[in-house]
Amino acid sequence: MSFLKTSQIKSPWLMHFDCGSCNGCDIETLACLTPMYDVERFGIINVGNPRHADVLVVTGTVNPRNAQVLKNIYEQMPTPKLVIAVGACGCSGGVFRDAPNVIGGVDKIIPVDVYVPGCPAKPEAIMDAVVTGLAKLKGILEAS
Ligand code: SF4
Repeated sequence: MSFLKTSQIKSPWLMHFDCGSCNGCDIETLACLTPMYDVERFGIINVGNPRHADVLVVTGTVNPRNAQVLKNIYEQMPTPKLVIAVGACGCSGGVFRDAPNVIGGVDKIIPVDVYVPGCPAKPEAIMDAVVTGLAKLKGILEAS
């Protein structure tokens, strides 16, 4: 059961999880919170507890060491929820996809709603993905 109401859809709480990135996409994700981009002016808040998060932003590739952690975080989030895969690594495994210790992109483990390409992904594209995802979340809430 979600605590979200359609009237609150403009201020989602977001959690960022680094699966196994080179930190390039993490830096771009964190840049969204800096005064340069100031994503909080849209009511989007970064939280550290998956039980409080409506949106999960994942950077990096999935590997055998972090796959279960990713799944646990996803399962602890209330429904409905959004997952955004950030960067080529999060989308498909990127340049590491053929590495022996890499499973692949985020969607190998959990469902992904929005994919943000790029190496690294740009802050503008990450913010656009959140807005795109919110429209989807709003549709789910209105239908329920
Ligand atoms: S997509 Fe590029 S910048 Fe982002 S984590 Fe992968 S290698 Fe690093």
